[in-house]
Amino acid sequence: MTTVCHEESGSMSAKQDYDCVVIGAGVQGSFTAYQLAKHNKKTLLLEQFVLPHTRGSSHGQTRIIRRAYEQDIYTQMMGEGYQLWAQLEKEAGVTLYRQTGLLVMGPETSGDYPLVKNTLLKNKVPTVILSRDNFHQHIPNVVLSEGHGALLDVTGGVLFADRALKAVQDQFQKLGGVIQDNEKVTEIKPGPVVKVTTSGGVYQARNVVITAGPWTNKLLAHTGFQLPLETVKINVCYWKEKTPGTYGVKQRFPCFVVTGSLESKEHIYGLPSNEYPDLVKICYHIGSKTDPDYRDLQTDTSDIDILKRYVSRCIPGLVPEPAVVESCMYTLTPDRHFVLDYHPNYSNIVIGAGFSGHGFKFGPVIGKLLCELSLGEVPSFDFSSFKIRRFQSHMKSAL
Ligand SMILES: Cc1cc2nc3c(=O)[nH]c(=O)nc-3n(C[C@H](O)[C@H](O)[C@H](O)COP(=O)(O)OP(=O)(O)OC[C@H]3O[C@@H](n4cnc5c(N)ncnc54)[C@H](O)[C@@H]3O)c2cc1C
Repeated sequence: MTTVCHEESGSMSAKQDYDCVVIGAGVQGSFTAYQLAKHNKKTLLLEQFVLPHTRGSSHGQTRIIRRAYEQDIYTQMMGEGYQLWAQLEKEAGVTLYRQTGLLVMGPETSGDYPLVKNTLLKNKVPTVILSRDNFHQHIPNVVLSEGHGALLDVTGGVLFADRALKAVQDQFQKLGGVIQDNEKVTEIKPGPVVKVTTSGGVYQARNVVITAGPWTNKLLAHTGFQLPLETVKINVCYWKEKTPGTYGVKQRFPCFVVTGSLESKEHIYGLPSNEYPDLVKICYHIGSKTDPDYRDLQTDTSDIDILKRYVSRCIPGLVPEPAVVESCMYTLTPDRHFVLDYHPNYSNIVIGAGFSGHGFKFGPVIGKLLCELSLGEVPSFDFSSFKIRRFQSHMKSAL
């Protein structure tokens, strides 16, 4: 059990007991807390900012959901992911997913496109392979580059991110979970009972889960450990349709990923116009290094220049200059795969981090897996590729 103390006239008084403290109320921490509450664990979810906020990685109205991946594990995890999203929709009575399909385009015989195609077919995901003729018939107003293949992951679509975050936090609270926002964790003292100090009080818990997104290493520093994580700022660009509605959800325009292009080797992805009238969200899948506490000091816009060239060449129905640019952050691991594991020195501290710009869709599955780890249960997926030991050569254990 956890004890929370608040300083009153200089003395610490016990306020409430919890089984587990989850640090960070982004998508991963919120789903973890929800799962723990479902398992009847008295759970406290701590968040440094007033909720909802736009300073981490989980804000914004939309995210892509898809089964199209280069590796089987993600495609397979999303099999359960869709079921868990549907379950939350049902419990909360809200729509969180809109099926649009996900168009994947890229060099047909090299890079990620053939890997994605293989994974989809191997895992029997409903997929339509588009010939060049079919492409022009079904996807007008997009140029398919010479030598590129195109396919549609039929399961792909849009997740309503802000709405989803609110829904899972509301469900967590309905299950008896406690959210303390505007409480920054300033110290973690590991031990059989972990002491967590915040700007608002002191908590003690047998189990702690750290899901702090870009701030993960700042928190792990209190435990004498660092992961090889890099935080980058993403310029979230919205592009105006020359003719309103050309690339809209109502026109059944799909989400899309370009696995490589003349302009760049990194992925470019987009979502149909929906959340802002006549604006299509198209982003570059990498950004420049930043400190999460000083995100906007990073002013590099070379990614936007790449996007401008791509949009101008391949999506001619858009004005090739972003009309709106918002900000978000990725927390990258060296191999772009997640970290889901116990702290190497403390088995009662679980870490969920490094979602590398593709973690939102997995929120319900990640929450389930981190909950299982925290409860000491055998995880329902073999996710050995997400273990910390793979970073042995990168890690610094002393500060
Ligand atoms: C532009 C953009 C587009 C994306 N598109 C997609 C997509 O299409 N599909 C997809 O699946 N994924 C996508 N992602 C990735 C996905 O959004 C992230 O992987 C996911 O949101 C990460 O969630 P998180 O909970 O790990 O981190 P965060 O959302 O950052 O949550 C961490 C939380 O911890 C809190 N915290 C940190 N330190 C402390 C402290 N000391 N005390 C208390 N609280 C603390 C933070 O304030 C924050 O709220 C995208 C990300 C971005 C930025």
